[in-house]
Amino acid sequence: MTSHIACRISPVAKKLYLQFTSCLFLILLVGCSSQPLYKDTQVMMGTFVEVISPDKEAAAIVFNEVKRIEKLLSKYDPESEISQLNKFGKLKVSPETFFVLSKSCLFWKQTNGAFDVTVGPLLDVWGFTDKNYKLPDKSKIKEALRSVGSDKIVLNEVDSVVEFNSPGVKVDLGAIAKGFAVDCAVEKLKEAGIKSCLVNAGGQIYCLGKRFGKPWRVVIQNPRGPGSKGSFDLIDQAVATSGDYESYFEVSGKRYMHIFDPRTGYPADNEVMCVTVIAPDGLTADALATAMMVMGKEKSDSLIKQYPGVIVRIVEKNA
Ligand code: ADP
Ligand code: MG
Repeated sequence: MTSHIACRISPVAKKLYLQFTSCLFLILLVGCSSQPLYKDTQVMMGTFVEVISPDKEAAAIVFNEVKRIEKLLSKYDPESEISQLNKFGKLKVSPETFFVLSKSCLFWKQTNGAFDVTVGPLLDVWGFTDKNYKLPDKSKIKEALRSVGSDKIVLNEVDSVVEFNSPGVKVDLGAIAKGFAVDCAVEKLKEAGIKSCLVNAGGQIYCLGKRFGKPWRVVIQNPRGPGSKGSFDLIDQAVATSGDYESYFEVSGKRYMHIFDPRTGYPADNEVMCVTVIAPDGLTADALATAMMVMGKEKSDSLIKQYPGVIVRIVEKNA
């Protein structure tokens, strides 16, 4: 009945970890066999990357791969391809970066602009980039909106050159990069012959195989209090949650969160508190969860029909 958990988290990281997990998922490890289950966590991509597996080697494989993807896609690393693209407005990129940008543009089309990785200038003017949160003037929002819109990204498949056709465009892959990194890590685990592992990058989770013959159980915690908002038993599936509690500030009792409606320039403001998406891959789960925070329940329900094999659970603020 007992599970051996090899856990290496520094005291500071542990405190942060508790803060993070308190508003995301709880991964139930009870009821497993007497075989050891190794758990390791590292801070990466601005969050905690957690690996749970009966295989001791799994964590190192995941961390190496997530680090590699972070080096390509992070807007906070001045050397990354995304930072260079944002700086110069044109860059020949790696297949990974090209793939994520292509997928991002596809989600932009499918969500009628609700999912838009060119939200960078909006995050800047609202102070989310440097955590110096503020309510900007309408004129500043209007100005930022001039550089927003994924139709400003030109993708050249022949030579993998990406170009912006308008000044001031800034790509921010915060809504999709972690899901993609999880997918890449899972590929590396498979190549290494690892058949059982859970990878959690700040709420973007992939459940590879089974946990001692049973599905992995992931519980959605109630973001506003005790109790849960449901649980899922998953095998070879991804699950992601986006919510209004991850990063926000309040002015006169009103909450302004980090997910923007790129058409208005304001943080998404509807009845939705959090969205959980189960999908065959992490990238899709991550992107759709963010998009649906913007779209609201009704439009999300109709979008989901385009994605066979995808399951969505939306928790509304008044639920
Ligand atoms: P988190 O990464 O906090 O778990 P999400 O996956 O929902 O949550 O991503 C939120 C991030 O996505 C924001 O911090 C910002 O970088 C970016 N973002 C905000 N609004 C949008 C949007 N409408 N479309 C695409 N990306 C967005
Ligand atoms: Mg997302």
